[in-house]
Amino acid sequence: MKRLITEMKEIGLQPSTSGNPGAKEAGQSVTRYILPDGRVVHAAVNRRYTCPNCGTSAWARPATKLICGGCYEEDDREITFLEPDASIDDEQEAA
Ligand SMILES: [Zn+2]
Repeated sequence: MKRLITEMKEIGLQPSTSGNPGAKEAGQSVTRYILPDGRVVHAAVNRRYTCPNCGTSAWARPATKLICGGCYEEDDREITFLEPDASIDDEQEAA
């Protein structure tokens, strides 16, 4: 990912976060690059995690462990982890 950004900058492109609604549905935050030949590349940077209990969602780097504070029961010492939303293939996103 770092390498991709470096390469993009070397050829004069700046990464920009897209507000692509399709990307949001898929549960991923994407960075969009437009190549010189007009192709669009989306690179996933964050994933959306959702609490299976209360539906609270948060964005974080892939492989992050998130605990839902809303579902934390102090008496039970019960914790609920937010689960990552289903992933999507970046290829399918290319327009
Ligand atoms: Zn929760």
